Amino acid sequence: MIQKQMILLVAVLLHYGTEVAGDCVADTSEGTRTLQNEETACHSLAAGETEGDTGRRYVTCSNGIVYIQPCGSSLRYDIVSKTCTWPEAATCSLAGGATTSDTTQKVPASSQSTATNTPATSSNATRKSSTQLYTTLTTREYSTEQPGPCNLDTCKPPDCFCFGERPSIPLADTPMFIMLTFDDAVTSTVYNGYFKSLLVDNKFQLWNPSGCPIRAAFYINHEYTDYNYVKALASNGHEIASHTVSHRLPPGDSSADYPQTVAEIDGMREKVFQGTGDKAISDLMSGFRAPYLLVTHNVMFDALRDSRFLYDTSITNVEIYSGRPPLYPFTLDYVMPRCPNVPCPTKPYPGLWEVPINGLMGSNNYSCSMIDTCSVGSNVFTANEEEWTSFYETNFNYFYGPKVPMQLFTHGSMFIRSPPSFDALVKWFQHLQATHKDVWIVTPKMVIEWMKKPISYSEMIAQKWGCN
Ligand SMILES: [Zn+2]
Repeated sequence: MIQKQMILLVAVLLHYGTEVAGDCVADTSEGTRTLQNEETACHSLAAGETEGDTGRRYVTCSNGIVYIQPCGSSLRYDIVSKTCTWPEAATCSLAGGATTSDTTQKVPASSQSTATNTPATSSNATRKSSTQLYTTLTTREYSTEQPGPCNLDTCKPPDCFCFGERPSIPLADTPMFIMLTFDDAVTSTVYNGYFKSLLVDNKFQLWNPSGCPIRAAFYINHEYTDYNYVKALASNGHEIASHTVSHRLPPGDSSADYPQTVAEIDGMREKVFQGTGDKAISDLMSGFRAPYLLVTHNVMFDALRDSRFLYDTSITNVEIYSGRPPLYPFTLDYVMPRCPNVPCPTKPYPGLWEVPINGLMGSNNYSCSMIDTCSVGSNVFTANEEEWTSFYETNFNYFYGPKVPMQLFTHGSMFIRSPPSFDALVKWFQHLQATHKDVWIVTPKMVIEWMKKPISYSEMIAQKWGCN
């Protein structure tokens, strides 16, 4: 009798997809599906999107949690290589519509209260269902077999900072940081069109409360970078950081990738030295962002530690719009108690900081990492100045409440493709400057320096903080 019941149970599970711990139910480009732990799929289309938008976002199942992540604006997700790549090289379904395994079976509507059996469509209903699903499933914790949790008695600034904590300074005294960063090559077009006036000539008279100009960080790769402009940016106090030499990293799922990873990450210092002829600039390079925000497992963090980098800023935190507060930067002395976006390092890296990309909220209610992957107005590259201002302000208000550093992370090419994004940013900065004494536009490295020794914003003004 028991044997018969077992056979029946197995038959039911095979038919409907195995409901094992760690599985997820997600809205994918192929409808609502059960994904196995660590499985990925393209996300369903949002309202107003067309076939060509398929693969703009992808979902990852990690220990029962569905994470929705964007690809870069011109990239699409490829389920074969599990990376964001050029649209012509990307596919969201296997040839002939074949399924990968029983994990791709449709889940009957009756078996999952949070799921719908609706295929991917551009209807509003599908989008809402996806958001609900995401919210429900992200309440579960990322599990790790590594030791923890972070010990607040021993993990203290300046050398250590626990995940999920905030600096021990009253909220009212805490400065509000906006981290302004640009990825990729520094070219003549973007430098002379935008960076020079904004960050070198200070044409728009943008000052931090200390009376010194605003600062930005540049995560650069070698190809197409003009080092004369890198030199000009560095000599005006802006941060130069590594984005790999050739804008790529090996997968990092094997230690055989280590030498190439070091060559890509640390090699950028050598390129900057060769290009600028100034060792002081390359010696100051201590930040890193992975191309396409593709974290390549522990190998990437091994390379950063061994090359004496101060911080990484590649891990996206997709949790904030599901009710979790945005995260302050933290050190990797302890394994993160939960991973907001796989993969995360699975062993400790004492003293190495992570500046998480907390994400912004697009006009379509999807969270996004880099500004130019966000939905702004009806379209990020046709949005007008008013829509951009609304986007900046709405997101700022979210971070200003808990005074967690807000990220304005983008590419210089965004200004070229959307001049209103630049005009609105300048005017919004001017507005902040006129109305707030506690708002500072800085680099991630400056935020870490402040976190090592936090002081009130009035003290920062008195000390002319950030003027060096
Ligand atoms: Zn890049």
